[in-house]
Amino acid sequence: MKRTATAVMLTATILMGGGIITSTPVEASATTAVKQSTTYTTTDALNLRAGNSTKYKVLTTIPKGKQVQYISTHGSWYKVKYGKHTGYVSKSYIKVQKASDFKPPVTPNASSTKSYATTSNLNLRSTNSTKGKIVTVIPKGKVVSYISAHGSWYKVKYGTKTGYVAKSYLKAISTKPVSSPPPAPKPPANPKTPPTGGQVSLGSFYTIDSLNMRKGAGVEHSLITAIPKGEKVEHLATSGNWYQVQYKTHRGWVNYGYLSKTQLVDTEPNASIKWLEFEATKRTDTLLSQMKQTTLKDPFLMPVQGRLTSSYGIRSNPTGAGYEFHTGVDYANVMGTPILATADAMVDRVVSSATGYGKYIVLRHDMKGMTFYSLYGHLNKMNVVPGQIVKRGEKIGELGSTGRSTGPHLHFEIQNSSRQNVNPQTLLAF
Ligand SMILES: [Zn+2]
Repeated sequence: MKRTATAVMLTATILMGGGIITSTPVEASATTAVKQSTTYTTTDALNLRAGNSTKYKVLTTIPKGKQVQYISTHGSWYKVKYGKHTGYVSKSYIKVQKASDFKPPVTPNASSTKSYATTSNLNLRSTNSTKGKIVTVIPKGKVVSYISAHGSWYKVKYGTKTGYVAKSYLKAISTKPVSSPPPAPKPPANPKTPPTGGQVSLGSFYTIDSLNMRKGAGVEHSLITAIPKGEKVEHLATSGNWYQVQYKTHRGWVNYGYLSKTQLVDTEPNASIKWLEFEATKRTDTLLSQMKQTTLKDPFLMPVQGRLTSSYGIRSNPTGAGYEFHTGVDYANVMGTPILATADAMVDRVVSSATGYGKYIVLRHDMKGMTFYSLYGHLNKMNVVPGQIVKRGEKIGELGSTGRSTGPHLHFEIQNSSRQNVNPQTLLAF
């Protein structure tokens, strides 16, 4: 259904004539039939971007006279493949000179339709709203076939049933066309590939975004390399939110929130971001339900008076390009504003760093059999020492702008006993 609509849109564009891209339909040969659709030749230089808007970074500029392969349509953009790059080009720059040469993209066989796995038990509804009647409940981990997008909902087919599901609970999965040759047999398991220097791998993961590898388990440690998105790494050790991994010849630490057990297929530009937010929300929800069971009431005090300037979750990088996962919440106020312990605690760490969190304090809270950690970053002054006992509401330092900071503010984090970040706003409000 989606492909039919695509073909119609393409045809409409072609009829307008003129152009940057010339259609060069490639007659699919027997061996490439399942992959090949339509190839175009650029007739002018054209930016290939990471997403379907000019806000996304330019992956490369495609020179005049090069061939690109059409993949799919996303609003006013086309997803295309150019050499080893896959990205987006604005539809308004895609025009076909010779309409008579045009052939619509090959209608794919049903087996190459996009598929998603449910990441939770999920209601299949009769319309794209929670007001829609529940057709059935799809269990977690089941596969549905994508039909079309409707706002934050996808129309999907599940077994014999068709309906609408909230797309934030779907994970794109790779489906191999039935007609493709069987995959090459996997090489025998070989502990030396990738090399782990004799250390046993605890499992393989894939990066779901470009990911910094550091010399230690924290943003204050210096950078070893940036691992590109979609690369396989071997997990060697764990420290809080950080995994020590082997990537090719590099060994270092990465934030585990950017690793996935499965290689995500980016059928849409924000798929990896949605997956990250889903994982983070799931962690916070788990902790919240644990806290409710312990009958704790308002365990966390607001650590500072200030203006909320950045929430927990995905945001655009304030000091560089691209997106990042903001592991805490930021409150801005004037330099020297008192910073208060959010609950009774023992001081766990007092760190002075020129980068990352700058001067920061970590408190350990043991409450009714549960352990939490709170972190206070970018401080100007720190008034406590490790091992010191502090009371809820006691001043531990002063607001500042040390480390990776664009102005005076407190960066406040809460971690669970496994040192995984959770959404502090949810817990402060609890
Ligand atoms: Zn922050």
